[in-house]
Amino acid sequence: LAQLFRPLDMLGMVYRTIRQGLTDMAAMFDLIDTAPEIVDVPGAPSLIIKGGALSFENVQFGYESNRPILKGVSFEIPPGGRLAVVGPSGAGKSTIARLIYRFYDVTGGRITIDGQDIRQIAQSSLRSQIGIVPQDTVLFNDTIGYNIGYGREGADQIAIEEAARGAAIHNFITSLPEGYDAKVGERGLKLSGGEKQRVAIARTLLKNPPILILDEATSALDSRTEAEIQSTLDRISVRRTTIIIAHRLSTIVDADRILVLEAGQVAEQGTHAELLAKDGLYAEMWARQQNEGEEEVVAVE
Ligand code: ATP
Repeated sequence: LAQLFRPLDMLGMVYRTIRQGLTDMAAMFDLIDTAPEIVDVPGAPSLIIKGGALSFENVQFGYESNRPILKGVSFEIPPGGRLAVVGPSGAGKSTIARLIYRFYDVTGGRITIDGQDIRQIAQSSLRSQIGIVPQDTVLFNDTIGYNIGYGREGADQIAIEEAARGAAIHNFITSLPEGYDAKVGERGLKLSGGEKQRVAIARTLLKNPPILILDEATSALDSRTEAEIQSTLDRISVRRTTIIIAHRLSTIVDADRILVLEAGQVAEQGTHAELLAKDGLYAEMWARQQNEGEEEVVAVE
């Protein structure tokens, strides 16, 4: 009987791994039960990564056919480059991330990775090459070791601890009475926003993807935690093509390129210095955030 069940167990494990990986993505994008089923073309080949160049060519997209959201968006990220996407609320920043992960297909133009149209390749191979650090990580009612480990199927304890070190959460875990076996999630230990982000970073380190999507937390972390997380994110994005969905401009001043999105169109593109010199939408957003920062300090004092 045990022999009969073993394959089923394994199937269950594989299914769980895929489903939970997707759950995190779906939660990040607020998409549970809303995204349509994307179907692979028959015999779709796997994505072949050469360096991880990502490009949007005149991409058009709307969730509903009568309401366009992205109206011809174009940009290119060279292999290992870092692009930050900024813009007012509702401009379409998260939509860009959803399209890269192929939760939806574009309705016009195309998205390519190393020259391959992502609609022509197997979804599973696309998603296996993309890591996401969401704003708010979903934790499962299981041990913290398990929560990190599902970043890569079959990861052993040594690999899990190495990832936790890379995400600067190993010392926190070993300080818990039960260490890596401590239960987390709704029915266990509650982790802070910063700790949850570190779990997401550790998962991503285990996955080791060439393409990374970072969705910056909107919820306020204290400034020390934020700076620490920021330096960890900077470290893990080295040599990976990275797209950062940014809400605070202060965290992306060093990005190779900043894309300013406004109402589904690229309003401006350039480095922080170039965009300030343009004195356009970015410069206006920057000035506003500087003022808000000062007001906060005054309020705290
Ligand atoms: P924010 O900074 O507030 O997160 P954003 O720039 O990331 O905003 P998106 O989440 O990409 O904006 O949303 C762009 C537009 O698409 C918004 O007007 C939003 O209402 C709409 N939208 C987002 N998701 C859906 C959906 N599942 N169905 C229909 N419309 C949607």
